[in-house]
Amino acid sequence: MNPGQDSRGNPGQDSRGAAIDLRSISKAYGSFKALDGVSLHIKAGEFMTLLGPSGSGKTTTLNVVAGFTEASSGALEVGGKSVVGVPAHKRNIGVVFQHYALFPHMTVSRNVAYPLALRGVAGAERERRVRQALDMVKMADFGHRFPSELSGGQQQRVALARAIVFDPPLLLMDEPLGALDKKLREWLQLEIKRIHRELGTTFVYVTHDQEEALVLSDRIAVFNRGRIEQIGTGRELYDEPATLFVGKFIGDSTVLRGAAAISGGETAIEIAGQKVATAKRLANGGSPVMLLRPEKLTLARRGADGDGRNRLTGRIGEAIYLGSGSKYEVDLADGSKAIVRSTLEADNFAIGDEVEVLFAGADVKLLADDDKADLTLT
Ligand code: ATP
Repeated sequence: MNPGQDSRGNPGQDSRGAAIDLRSISKAYGSFKALDGVSLHIKAGEFMTLLGPSGSGKTTTLNVVAGFTEASSGALEVGGKSVVGVPAHKRNIGVVFQHYALFPHMTVSRNVAYPLALRGVAGAERERRVRQALDMVKMADFGHRFPSELSGGQQQRVALARAIVFDPPLLLMDEPLGALDKKLREWLQLEIKRIHRELGTTFVYVTHDQEEALVLSDRIAVFNRGRIEQIGTGRELYDEPATLFVGKFIGDSTVLRGAAAISGGETAIEIAGQKVATAKRLANGGSPVMLLRPEKLTLARRGADGDGRNRLTGRIGEAIYLGSGSKYEVDLADGSKAIVRSTLEADNFAIGDEVEVLFAGADVKLLADDDKADLTLT
């Protein structure tokens, strides 16, 4: 392997991997649409994560790219060439699944050598590449062991070595850390990130864990019911969610619903008799949803000075000490809950305390209710 060069010898980290282009991919099982017009462009060398709840279509998408599932319609290109109709074993793609499918009767070295043997790589070259791949996943001392003599995390590292040993331009991973405990998962996430950086290959990674997606990815595609809701960096998805679904799926959020009142250039929303002003303007009436991130909310005792900010009254429903601060759930007058995070020593509230939640209009995200997309924002 020549990190930093692609098969044509062009330098540059990105050029080692293959770009992937999915255009209007659909997959139907009878009348059920597992995928409904999925379009996604993945750049060469990019770490793209497919994120979404169970059953949203992530694995089906990965399987279509791998060639394990045939799409009902749509176009798919890998490295600029259509692979529609090309069988999986001819696509030259590395794959790692949640359940390590290592061959139990083969040693670690023979497992990793297997894809090379299939490709006719033999002798000293095969040995050299097996050693290099095991070095990459820090398993060089385990070549003689059998899979049953390894921990779950070690088996996954071997599976990863086996997937990269033939230097594929694309690596697909489906919940590879799903069966491991939290500490090991967090450590392996950083290892996978390092390996991606060193290889420069395109990685496509499936998870339902939003924190994992944020740690790993250059960009994230958020899936919901067989469609992609939004594609962006973790920061873009967190700061500017395009839909309520994305806003709620990435990070903690407070969601408030109310009746909109538009006057002059300003939109105010009435929630439980209290007016909340936002910096955004609604072009029509509709039923907007307000989304607020926990770090944008401040807690105060009732009647404290709010500096002209919006204020909603409520009562502490839950107080969770996190070590680095506290997280509070506030039961608001209209029955909704606000999630507030605070690192201030002074914010030492107890369950039942009467409080006010303060926030600036500029920090409010106005979104359409998922089931009633009737909003036009200006
Ligand atoms: P998970 O995180 O649970 O793996 P996912 O987002 O990967 O979920 P998929 O495995 O892609 O979801 O499944 C999408 C939908 O397609 C699900 O509702 C699933 O039941 C359905 N599905 C998948 N394979 C088949 C099949 N062979 N026959 C019928 N329905 C299927």
